[in-house]
Amino acid sequence: MREFRGDLHVHTALSPCADDEMTPPAIVARAVDLGIDILAVTDHNTAENVPAMVRAARRTPLTIVPGLELQTREEVHVVCLFPDLETTLDWQEEVYRRLPDRENREDLLGAQWICDETGRMVGKLDRLLLASAAISLDEAVAAVNARRGLAIPAHVDRPAHSILTQLGFIPEGIRIAACEVSSRADRSQVLARFPGLSDVRLIVSSDAHRLSELDGSRTRYWLGRPELAEIGKALAGLEERKVRVDWP
Ligand SMILES: [Zn+2]
Ligand SMILES: [Zn+2]
Repeated sequence: MREFRGDLHVHTALSPCADDEMTPPAIVARAVDLGIDILAVTDHNTAENVPAMVRAARRTPLTIVPGLELQTREEVHVVCLFPDLETTLDWQEEVYRRLPDRENREDLLGAQWICDETGRMVGKLDRLLLASAAISLDEAVAAVNARRGLAIPAHVDRPAHSILTQLGFIPEGIRIAACEVSSRADRSQVLARFPGLSDVRLIVSSDAHRLSELDGSRTRYWLGRPELAEIGKALAGLEERKVRVDWP
């Protein structure tokens, strides 16, 4: 078993709200500098920069976990992580089918850059990404689990697009792997505000939209190998895999 620092929620320049500096080689270099071992790529409702991120991380110590950050029908943000690129792109197609067929308003929302592994902007995605897909939270979580993925409601301590602000509670029996709280959150304050989280696995991820928001990652995972199935076991506390958050 080895200890890995993991950041399971990072945006690239493909997310309209992310800085153009969030190119694959820049993110990889910064993450390696910070000692991050595992980084999940999670753009809003798309995974089109995941292949370039995987290529940019080749021959570095960094492992890329493919995924995306889904916005459900209830406007809940859910980090969806998958064991491989093919499954991720299959889920992306499902999400695309359920997104409104509208164009991005680049002037209002920002550009959606598709990058290559050298950091070159090779195209722009025209479809509107900052929108809800017509997929309920329940359906999304079931579909992600059916694809051997992990579903992690994002930034549950924040006022927007959190499962707790949108639904008010964590639905009984929902098969989420953990709930994510933001980097600056204080555990006791979060639990005082949201007592429903006291029996939920909590992790901290950066949700970085710019390089300066990447931090050293406050969540450490003890795994046999740096891969999603092992992360799933660690979040569930199985087979001596475990997770520890360095709370402030
Ligand atoms: Zn979000
Ligand atoms: Zn995000």
